[in-house]
Amino acid sequence: MKITFLGTGTSQGIPVIGSTHPVCLSSDKKDKRLRSSIMLEWDTYRFIVDCGPDFRQQMLRENVERINGILFTHEHADHTAGLDDIRPFGYQMGDVPLYMPERITDNLQQRFYYIFTKVNRYPGAPNASVDIVYNKPFNLGSKKVIPVEFMHGKIPVFGYRIDDVAYLTDLKTIEDDEKEKLKQLDVLIINALRMETHPTHLNLNEALDLIEELQPKKAYLTHISHKLGFHAEVEKQLPKNVFLAYDGLRLSI
Ligand SMILES: [Zn+2]
Ligand SMILES: [Zn+2]
Repeated sequence: MKITFLGTGTSQGIPVIGSTHPVCLSSDKKDKRLRSSIMLEWDTYRFIVDCGPDFRQQMLRENVERINGILFTHEHADHTAGLDDIRPFGYQMGDVPLYMPERITDNLQQRFYYIFTKVNRYPGAPNASVDIVYNKPFNLGSKKVIPVEFMHGKIPVFGYRIDDVAYLTDLKTIEDDEKEKLKQLDVLIINALRMETHPTHLNLNEALDLIEELQPKKAYLTHISHKLGFHAEVEKQLPKNVFLAYDGLRLSI
């Protein structure tokens, strides 16, 4: 399986519009972060996790000509606001399969009414179909996906495990029975917002504690705020099996 980090930034991205914070002004390419999303590829399949406001730019940057569908973690705009830009894929393949729980479906049907309505459709509207995800394994292409549920403040979020790789973003707390699904991972991708605590996101120390507890072979941190600091400086302080992800990073597993 190939993993491409399409974006590794928190909700405003880095640089933040109008910010004079040193990380926002950094010339290091690794300090420029689009909104968080990954691309997963195996056999002939290509799936995207989340579809934030930078989706179009991410698809262009990675020369993505074709996808098999999009999995969603939760409904926040930084994970869903790019949905209109699935149009080119829909014109080419028909309905783009969207994998998400019922709550996210209800939310997107309100916010993107014109995509989901069956009556009086605007001819250029995006084509999408919905596959409801429950907290139980499902098949995706030739692989099995295990949803992992956790809390983002008061909102439940789904992470996804495929083989020995798991992608968890916008996590703050996770119950022990869900942690059981995260044993013996080769790669754990997990959010780490900044140094200070935050009500709905893990900070760096909390993310490192969870990594220590789950013992993946390697961990990559994502959904990063400019307040975490410079990529090059933060990475030096991390344990040897933990890395800061950056936009465009590719892993082969
Ligand atoms: Zn987010
Ligand atoms: Zn969120």
